[in-house]
Amino acid sequence: MAPIKKKTSNDFKASSIAPANGSANQSTPQSLLVNPNRTNFSAAQPATQFIGNGKPGTLKIIPLGGLHEIGKNTCIFEYEDEIMMLDAGLAFPTDGMHGIQIVLPDMTYLRDNRHKIKGMIVTHGHEDHIGGIAFHLKQVDIPVIYGPRLAMALLADKMEEAGVSDRTEIRTVGPREFVRVGTKFLVEFIRNTHSMADSFSVAIHTPLGVVIHTGDFKFDHTPVDGEYFDLQRLAEYGEKGVLCLISDSTNAEIPGFTPSEKSVYPNLERVFSNAPGRLLVTTFASSVHRVNMILDIAQKQGRVVSVLGRSMLNTIAHARNLGYVKCQDDLFVPIHELQNYPDHKVLILTTGSQGEPLSAMTRISKGEHRQIKIRNGDTVVLSANPIPGNTIAVVNTIDRLMMLGANVIYGRDKGIHVSGHGSQEDHKLMISLTRPKFFMPVHGEHRMLVKHAEIAQSLGVPADNMVIIENGDVVELTQDSIKIGDRVPSGIELVDASRSGVVSDRALRERQQLANEGLVTIAASVYNTGQLASDPQVHMSGVVSSIDPAKLKGSIGATLKNFLSNRFERFVTNPARRSDDDIDWGGLKVELEREFQRLLRRDFVGTPQVVVLVQPIAAPISVRRDRPAPAAPTAGTAASATLNTNTAAPVAANAEAVDSEASAAVPSGRRRRRTTASVAS
Ligand SMILES: [Zn+2]
Ligand SMILES: [Zn+2]
Repeated sequence: MAPIKKKTSNDFKASSIAPANGSANQSTPQSLLVNPNRTNFSAAQPATQFIGNGKPGTLKIIPLGGLHEIGKNTCIFEYEDEIMMLDAGLAFPTDGMHGIQIVLPDMTYLRDNRHKIKGMIVTHGHEDHIGGIAFHLKQVDIPVIYGPRLAMALLADKMEEAGVSDRTEIRTVGPREFVRVGTKFLVEFIRNTHSMADSFSVAIHTPLGVVIHTGDFKFDHTPVDGEYFDLQRLAEYGEKGVLCLISDSTNAEIPGFTPSEKSVYPNLERVFSNAPGRLLVTTFASSVHRVNMILDIAQKQGRVVSVLGRSMLNTIAHARNLGYVKCQDDLFVPIHELQNYPDHKVLILTTGSQGEPLSAMTRISKGEHRQIKIRNGDTVVLSANPIPGNTIAVVNTIDRLMMLGANVIYGRDKGIHVSGHGSQEDHKLMISLTRPKFFMPVHGEHRMLVKHAEIAQSLGVPADNMVIIENGDVVELTQDSIKIGDRVPSGIELVDASRSGVVSDRALRERQQLANEGLVTIAASVYNTGQLASDPQVHMSGVVSSIDPAKLKGSIGATLKNFLSNRFERFVTNPARRSDDDIDWGGLKVELEREFQRLLRRDFVGTPQVVVLVQPIAAPISVRRDRPAPAAPTAGTAASATLNTNTAAPVAANAEAVDSEASAAVPSGRRRRRTTASVAS
């Protein structure tokens, strides 16, 4: 096997990447030419003239997400003091991430280097490539974002929803267009084929040479929208020399070529025509080609279509606007008008192919959808395979639909779904066309990356010329070497339903503890003297039933009394005065929580979350050392002492009140206005 020939950026001649028709001007919309960041290559100019001084150096490639996983693809290209980002996606939560809606990569490195960011390029509009951008724009400035029209239309919606529309400039690009990002990066967009329409691979010209990032791809020679993979351009780069290929590894374990999207068409057509009644079809909202085919078949078979789910509606609207989905306006009818059509003339297109809890299909399967109830004769078609983490949710949905009487068509053997990602032979073709010197498999779980690296090796890329990396690894690429250098923070940032900020690890741990073990709330009214004003109130939520509540409450009461009599004085900062401000109530609360956690772990073999609410109660002001301490007042007395205040919640007057309004009883601060006269009387 011949070794890969060493190439450098000097091997490039710009003529090799000029548009096929000789000049970018002829195919470039006029509006795009005014952008100073765009450069049209002319045959006489070498690429390096546009992009740097040609000095050797190190290009850092830092993936913050997308490795050892499918999701949140986010990559940084850094040369000297300039950063270009490529895609910024999100992932969805796994089991145990309670209340989390979105998972983002740790953006610490970008925040620390925000001054270097010159812009971003986007390969296509899937959530795992654009879903994080609106969140990042709240934290860092990205001066300009270049991407395909469909992806940019979807991104603009997301940015508007997040209120960050004015934080960056969105610019659309077409096939074979060049954009300059900063002074170090010049990028050509190369049309590729994928499950999403308007998708690109990119050739990134750097001072060291050309790096090709495939984006997500498969080689689909009969694309649904007629936009062919620009193999000629890839081959041209391969001919002249590609320093590094960064390539999608999703299906690296699967032999052969991934079939064309079009191969699904006759199978869907057959399934649809065999459906005796209503058809309910679900696929990824973003699978524009699939949606296009489903609508086309519906139109052919004389079915009207109702679309359910916001993401599906959005994608169809944008894809129709841009010409990627073609159908007549009267194909669509609102859901409430479906009753006017016979069942065999109805198709309902919905989200929920992955069993997402809030999606239309999941709610339909649970009988919770207001307008659609499954009935005998319905046919449900799942035109998507579950992403590995979603398998259980999907099979549960199928079970529920069948129990309601639907005929459910699903599974790989039906030919109603093909992947949008290339398999082993696609990978071989990509490597053969681009002939890279160095190779980096990305977009995949670890075993997929390893498999992809083996494929590259079988095609002659030496093992020393490739790296298998993890999120956060800093890949240092020179003209002669590739290696893994430092690491940058690479954890995750979590966003919950509030979407107002990042959920910390601690908050997530607390949610997990709450979900797994439940919550014990203990409310105690305590005098400044350290005595209990009344018996503590204990409330349990979601705690395993084997714990005897009466025994638990007894133990807690005894532990509390014991703690106060032995250790309360430690929290008194000024024993002579002993006013409210002279006691560290916050410290007392924390120590009590630890004490009760220990008690529960030791005697009840449980680790529920414990929340202690300490209500400070002023002791009678006449307390003096030379007189016996007064007997603790009854609960009723204690309550009347605090009910007169404006800020204190009524504590201990009524156990139910404590339980249901526990949070209101949390001391809001140490300073508390009180009517001491009523206590003293
Ligand atoms: Zn994709
Ligand atoms: Zn992807």
